[in-house]
Amino acid sequence: MASDAVKAGASSRESLELLYHISRELASALELRTVLERVLKLSLENVEGISGSLIVLDNKGRALDSIIVYKNKVIEETNLQLKFTLDQGLAGWVFSQREAALVRDTSQDPRWQRTPRTGEKAEPPKSTVSAPLLVRDELVGVITLTHPEPGFFNDDTLALVQAIADQAAFAVLNARLYAESQRRTQVLGALVESAASISASLQLDEVLKRILKQTTKAMEVEAVSLALVEPDGKNLAFRAATGGSGKKVEGVKIKMGQGIAGWVANEGKGVVVQEAQDDPRFYPEVDAATGYETEAVACAPIRADEKVIGVLEALNPVSGAFASDALLVLEGIGNLAGTAIQHTQLFQQVEVARKRYLELFEDSVDPILITDCEGKIQEANRQAEILLGFDEETLHQMDVHHFHQADWKALGKDLSNLGPDKSVSYESVLHSDGNETNVEMYVRQAEVDGYDVLQWIMRDITERKNLDNLREDLASMIYHDLRSPLANVVSGLDVLEMMLAADEDPTIRSVLDIAMRSTERVQRLATSLLDTSRMEAGQSIGNPEPTAATDLVQAALEAVLPGAEARQVKLEGAVAKNLPKVLADAEMIRRVMINLLENAIKYSQEDQTVTLGAKRHGDEVEFWVQDQGRGIPKEEQERIFEKFARVQIGATGNTKGLGLGLAYCKLAVEGHGGRIWVESEPGEGAKFIFTLQTA
Ligand code: ADP
Repeated sequence: MASDAVKAGASSRESLELLYHISRELASALELRTVLERVLKLSLENVEGISGSLIVLDNKGRALDSIIVYKNKVIEETNLQLKFTLDQGLAGWVFSQREAALVRDTSQDPRWQRTPRTGEKAEPPKSTVSAPLLVRDELVGVITLTHPEPGFFNDDTLALVQAIADQAAFAVLNARLYAESQRRTQVLGALVESAASISASLQLDEVLKRILKQTTKAMEVEAVSLALVEPDGKNLAFRAATGGSGKKVEGVKIKMGQGIAGWVANEGKGVVVQEAQDDPRFYPEVDAATGYETEAVACAPIRADEKVIGVLEALNPVSGAFASDALLVLEGIGNLAGTAIQHTQLFQQVEVARKRYLELFEDSVDPILITDCEGKIQEANRQAEILLGFDEETLHQMDVHHFHQADWKALGKDLSNLGPDKSVSYESVLHSDGNETNVEMYVRQAEVDGYDVLQWIMRDITERKNLDNLREDLASMIYHDLRSPLANVVSGLDVLEMMLAADEDPTIRSVLDIAMRSTERVQRLATSLLDTSRMEAGQSIGNPEPTAATDLVQAALEAVLPGAEARQVKLEGAVAKNLPKVLADAEMIRRVMINLLENAIKYSQEDQTVTLGAKRHGDEVEFWVQDQGRGIPKEEQERIFEKFARVQIGATGNTKGLGLGLAYCKLAVEGHGGRIWVESEPGEGAKFIFTLQTA
């Protein structure tokens, strides 16, 4: 039809030339706007029109882009106006009929006549022509040309415009496809750029700022705001916003489900609303509070680990309406934002924990060093700097072994005694700055950033050491000084006893007996204490000789008999027959037995029995003292052999005594190469057992 019309025109050759020219003109352009402008201007030129429009449709028939030319000038910001035209005007008719139309006088044609909007003057009549741009069956656009003079356009014009439209349709389609692919590339580019920029920081405020900046840029909008779901999950709080009212938006809270943002947060999906004020979800309070006027909104959820943690809103696109892929871009940024925000939150948690540990480390009253497994110092706290006399930087160049002799027996070869739950402690002397400090070193292995490190806590024990030394010095001084006056008392009593034999006065005899027994006890105690401090100082025991077990048992039982009788406790000996002799310093072992027996008697009730027994066991003879008293709790059974250890039974338990007796027994027995231990079920008495080697 078009070509017939052209042929029927004034000059078919001219028309053909024109079409050829148009197709050449258009083939060289790809950019949609350029193509539209050229098509429209060429058409206007050839029909001598004054104004015109060209609307491009996407593949779903929605207006994608458009251009209006008036008196050879392109009019900007045309989207809304054209939407109106497509709904109601002549172009709308062509759009729905897919047919060209000629209106000789617009005032006479109902297709043109439209109700003037309030405030607008009724248009003067004009002449207009409109044609569809079709490629095969797809409608690519609609072109409309006008002339202010009614009747100016005729059927020839219609035919020519249709021919131009046919020719231009391909070029417009190509340009549209190109624009779409361009846009897709831009979307990808925007996302890549946003990703790089957003994740470059670990500070929440900075990340939020970057998200806003990238969103503004990628979405080409006036304002962007970001709200995060509050920890209670009930509200959304705006955390950051750009645009003139940005500062006012920050801190505003809305309920989940309220407004478009609340809807998006609840539903977990994004939305584009081109006319916000008409949307039932729109919540005008925020605008009212900030004075901002929201026209179009795109809103996408911010997700982290599949959970919606907030929403990202883009307001009022600069072009007037959001492009079809706007949501795609915003949702992409929303996802990036979620990950970035989550990272900052995790980072902050780690930072807080790190600071807390650093404070604990720095403020510890004990000096602490962190080293690698070789001992090279990596961290030192303030106390360590003070104790070692170097600043942290210098310490980082040094080695923990520089300051002290590690106890490899305690640590184990290759630190084998250390483990995740195994720490080791030993006493050592620190050499620093010409000073010596007694320390208890606690060593622990830990893992930091996947590497094994050692933690060395150095507890200053100078004071404890000084006290220990003082006590020991005092003790041995007293024992020495006690022994000679005691010896004098003993010999004095012996003389008295001899003198008494002649004159038997039972009262004097019993007083004398008490005096002699008490003196013997004091003497035994003094000797045991002296032995203890000697053995602790590493001296070996006196002179072990083959001794009959029966003799030892007999002597011990005799010594404690008066005490047992006084407390009405029965004593029994249980020595196996034919026992071999044992190697023993008789005096020391007798005192061991007396100690055990005295304890047994002390913790026995009236009428209970204390047994001292001996039996053979391989190369050894096993001696035991068994009572029926309160027994000893399992957890105390090792500790009671330590010096000054006493078992507290109940809040007001019996804690008389110094806790030295068993310490002496252990030293004496072990000095003989034997062992000593206790077997006891609480409430069922205690059985102390020790071994001596046979002679
Ligand atoms: P002391 O008797 O001077 O306190 P020892 O070293 O002899 O010191 O004993 C240490 C602790 O062991 C005692 O305080 C007591 O609590 C506990 N003990 C020792 N022998 C017995 C026993 N036969 N029955 C119960 N407890 C005992």
